[in-house]
Amino acid sequence: MDTPRGRAVAVALSLTAVAGAITIAIVFWPTGVNPDVANRRKQGRPIPVYCKACNWSGTTNVQDEQKYPVACPKCGEEKAFEARRCYGCKELFAMPEKLLYSCPRCGYKYDDRKTPPGGLPPMDR
Ligand SMILES: [Zn+2]
Ligand SMILES: [Zn+2]
Repeated sequence: MDTPRGRAVAVALSLTAVAGAITIAIVFWPTGVNPDVANRRKQGRPIPVYCKACNWSGTTNVQDEQKYPVACPKCGEEKAFEARRCYGCKELFAMPEKLLYSCPRCGYKYDDRKTPPGGLPPMDR
């Protein structure tokens, strides 16, 4: 195998191995998630939002890393806030950054001190 041709084959083989390793590293980087999960993360999850610019409310895809407010699907303004569906009137309204608040439509009272959301601080969402 010590002929120039043999060495060229050996180099080609090791290059292929390196390229394969890099491909695997890219596909599974950074947490070993499978491509399906990575894809879903890129597309985002359907999140109920409320736009303070045009008062539209509905569901839009938001990526996990995205910060609120996000772009409104209706008017395009970045005024769409995470919304919650009211237990009282079943309408969506923008979630205030307070723990104590009430529905702007029907006045249903909420106390998020009793149900801390997920345990993550809002900045990390
Ligand atoms: Zn809007
Ligand atoms: Zn309500």
